[in-house]
Amino acid sequence: MKKTIDDINVRGRRVLVRLDLNVPLDDAARITDDRRIQAALPTVKKLLADGGRLILMSHLGRPDEEPENKHKYSLRPVAERLTQLLGTSVPLLPDCVGPEVAAQVARMHDGEAVLLENLRFHEAETIKDKRAIQNPKLREQKDAFARQLASLADMYVNDAFGTCHRDNASMITVPQMMAGKPRVVGYLVQRELKFLGETVSNPKRPFVCVLGGAKVSDKLGVIHSLLTKCDTILIGGAMAYTFLAAEGMGVGKSLVEPDLYDTARQLRTEAGPKLRLPADSIVASEIKAGGTTTVCTSFIPADKMGLDIGPVTIKTYAEVVRTAKSVFWNGPMGVFEVPPFDQGTIAMAQAMADATRSGAITIVGGGDSASAMDKAGLADRITHISTGGGAALEFLEGKPFAAIDVLDDA
Ligand code: AMP
Repeated sequence: MKKTIDDINVRGRRVLVRLDLNVPLDDAARITDDRRIQAALPTVKKLLADGGRLILMSHLGRPDEEPENKHKYSLRPVAERLTQLLGTSVPLLPDCVGPEVAAQVARMHDGEAVLLENLRFHEAETIKDKRAIQNPKLREQKDAFARQLASLADMYVNDAFGTCHRDNASMITVPQMMAGKPRVVGYLVQRELKFLGETVSNPKRPFVCVLGGAKVSDKLGVIHSLLTKCDTILIGGAMAYTFLAAEGMGVGKSLVEPDLYDTARQLRTEAGPKLRLPADSIVASEIKAGGTTTVCTSFIPADKMGLDIGPVTIKTYAEVVRTAKSVFWNGPMGVFEVPPFDQGTIAMAQAMADATRSGAITIVGGGDSASAMDKAGLADRITHISTGGGAALEFLEGKPFAAIDVLDDA
């Protein structure tokens, strides 16, 4: 258990708060989904009400990969949305470190917040510790950047669950450098650790996992780990076709990862009847509406690809989910962005909501499955929707989170 923002007294203190405000923007830099900002509000409101001087920080996108378009990744729209939602001005500072930032922070009053500009405008933020160990220059670059951030504040709060699996400077090096000062988790991280932690350590049974999405390779670790913990794993999405093709079934032009056939076969043997694959699929020659057929998954025509789970699978998977006592879901059942290939995913969303109503603990592991819950209008009927897809998967896989370990124990 880690200390939380309820264990510190922030009045008059400068509090560096790492948030995950990495929201999607359209071409005109408008926020298309503000869930991550909304999820940060309880912590920010509490610290403001308690009279802290909040120095909020986050990354946005991957400006390191597009240095020529860096301006596209400014946190300005986020500062504006925060200002709107909080009803109090949250100015965006011109950078995240440097003399101008330090001067503006020094002028802050109790109960005020500022937002630092995108942390990833400095490449030091994402230098991996593995590389830094091998290269003292990189280590010094990362440490110098973290030292500047750490010097801004008296306390550190980590409420950036979606980034907790990354060894970014603001996530690990900064709190390391603030040793001796309070370093705690915010409400969002506290809630994520509670729900995900209880799911893996002491699930109510039957515990069912629904895994979909594009690639088996992204989810191998978590499948292995969940196999030992859950009662049933329902596989959907393109992932299913790698398992089916590995067993010699014709999957037509479906998306597969042939280099994983051996692993997929091994996993199925290990899992036995626990791991379920779709019995039927919606197939088409192209990813667009019209011209779809439903077929048994073992008979996908050579010129077609499987793009969603079929009606028989929907019925059996939904029944397994509805009668579970805990359910974890990550990854869409099909190409849910393009109707009619969204039906399997919507049906799973409905089954999750039904399970919640019957008293099950239901958890959605971020990303596309979270958007699907929203699209189906059922997001408020789930026990917990994680804000971090990748982080949630790594947590369930049992990987250590150095960004959490470094914080103060309760
Ligand atoms: P992931 O990020 O691994 O959870 O994958 C999500 C993506 O998988 C979504 O963009 C879906 O469109 C895609 N996907 C799901 N099922 C299929 C499928 N049968 N064929 C191709 N793509 C799929």
